[in-house]
Amino acid sequence: MNFTSFLDHEHHKKLLGSVDALLLMKFGACARVLNGARNLDQQYRKYASCTGAEIGSLFQRRRWYCEDARYRCSAFWKPSSKTHEEKKPKNGKEDSNVLLAQAGFIRQAYSGIFHLLPLGLRVQDKIERLLDKHMHSLQASKVSLSSLSSQDLWVKSGRLGAGTDVFTFSDRKDAKWLLSPTHEEEITELVGSLVQSYRDLPVRLYQISRKYRDEPRPRQGLLRGREFLMKDLYTFDVDVPAALRTYDGVRAAYNKFFDELKIPYIVARATSGNMGGELSHEYHLPSSKGEDSVLSCSHCDHVKNEELVTSGQVSTRLLESCDFDIPSALEEIPKLKEAVFITNDKESLVKAYCKHRDAGASSATSENEINPYAVKAAIPEVALGIENPSEQFFSSNSTTGRILYMFDDQITRSDAQAQLATARGHNSPPDAPMFIVESPSGSMRIPDLVKPQTGDRCPACSEGRIQVQKAIEIGHTFHLGTRYSEVLNAKVAVGPASKSQHEVFMQMGCHGIGVSRLMAATASALSDKVGLNWPRVIAPFEVIVIPHQVRDVESCVAVYDQMLQGEAACNDAIVDDREKDWLSKLREADLIGYPVIVFLGKAWKERGEYEVQCRRLKVKQTVSGVELSGFVRRLLEQL
Ligand SMILES: [Zn+2]
Repeated sequence: MNFTSFLDHEHHKKLLGSVDALLLMKFGACARVLNGARNLDQQYRKYASCTGAEIGSLFQRRRWYCEDARYRCSAFWKPSSKTHEEKKPKNGKEDSNVLLAQAGFIRQAYSGIFHLLPLGLRVQDKIERLLDKHMHSLQASKVSLSSLSSQDLWVKSGRLGAGTDVFTFSDRKDAKWLLSPTHEEEITELVGSLVQSYRDLPVRLYQISRKYRDEPRPRQGLLRGREFLMKDLYTFDVDVPAALRTYDGVRAAYNKFFDELKIPYIVARATSGNMGGELSHEYHLPSSKGEDSVLSCSHCDHVKNEELVTSGQVSTRLLESCDFDIPSALEEIPKLKEAVFITNDKESLVKAYCKHRDAGASSATSENEINPYAVKAAIPEVALGIENPSEQFFSSNSTTGRILYMFDDQITRSDAQAQLATARGHNSPPDAPMFIVESPSGSMRIPDLVKPQTGDRCPACSEGRIQVQKAIEIGHTFHLGTRYSEVLNAKVAVGPASKSQHEVFMQMGCHGIGVSRLMAATASALSDKVGLNWPRVIAPFEVIVIPHQVRDVESCVAVYDQMLQGEAACNDAIVDDREKDWLSKLREADLIGYPVIVFLGKAWKERGEYEVQCRRLKVKQTVSGVELSGFVRRLLEQL
């Protein structure tokens, strides 16, 4: 096809409507070969980002001197690495972050900070495009807020206190700034200043941007990094019913987004943490690597995060003022399990106790453990994740330090008293006053301090049994109400423009999906002992075509074109044209996790048939050239 007929082509005309035709003409060779590439817009973008002069030098370089725009492994940078087989983890367990690094998707730069390499960036770009699609269906508009935010604003909202994991810094004029971990404050300021009337609502704004968190213990690669990419949507409505309708709409859009990924996910009721608000849901991918525990009932639709504990207000009472005797001489010290916590101000040490699990109990698969979230729900000042709380308490030199005792309600009263007697004998520091934590009903035993376990009775329906699953959180929806609009004074006028008009605070929602997290969580959920596995919709390339020998590359190119032409089998593909042996190419393709591999191997040499491999569907089959596109398309439709 020459350049003129190229222009005649319907799709190309559309393309040229939006680009610099002159630039494209300078790129005559490119125009000729763009024909046949299905993902034209994307291909063009690659060239459109070069100036004329750059294009010349681009062609001088051998690496780019392949006369077409097809994706080829020789021109797609990926660090050469040892194959996965040679670097098997010792414990036999696959770590998806190790796999992502080995397969050339990411490289760690510093603790909790990662570079994305071309393969990783393609996955991230596809996640972003999928998010754009579903946010658009929700009628949300895309914005991009600055990563810098003023500390003053965060002081106003009350979220910048001691112990927050925020990167803060001062500029040369000593103004105080922070790197935003999230944007509730800034978006409330922005919308509050620009929207004045209820007629301008609802407003739905989202962005996909880098967020920062001064994580004390970065771990698990992209799952808990100090810089991460997130989609955050903020919604503004005039009243609660409208805000709840929006909330339901967001949940429906989220479900469609996760459905399209075609991976199993769990939606659970969750706590709002330091976000504020009361209604929130989490989206999880089940994974043994997950740091969350999700409880689901075998009978009803009760699904919640272990962190979600609803407890009444507790009170504390000085031990000496309690109306019971503590035995002075003990025959036997009760065997209770202890967990120790400290409050944020380091003034109180909290010692929580539960029973060892009865050996004969039906659900006794593991030991009882104190649920730290239950302790925090009862005493919100408790800090979680603190190492050596006792040492910190004793070294804080506090003069007002006190020790709180909490007992789970499975502990008998006499055992609790015996424990207190022992504690009083060895109280340290000896002069620290001892307090007992009492339940809302005044009992010294607190209900549900123990971590729920698989097999426990469901608290919602009491008919089903609880299953506890480890999972990775990848999305969260919050109905915030007026948590931010009130403190930052974001109001709209309601009612007709007359004397009866009055102002109300906007009802807000915020809804996140962790893009970096989703990449790592998907890698974790679908990887196997051979390598990664990507859902089609976010795979770096949907299909890779591998020749038996390098001299067969042109036949692979013909397969590539067949895949993308007519009723196309896939949206993108890549040809492995490198001078490498076919076995190591196949191994690498498995490690990277392309959904489908087309191999021109023995069957192709002998009978002209193509070997199609799909590890996730356990397919390895030879098909004829006529069947190839349809066969690959049907595989991809399942992935
Ligand atoms: Zn139930």
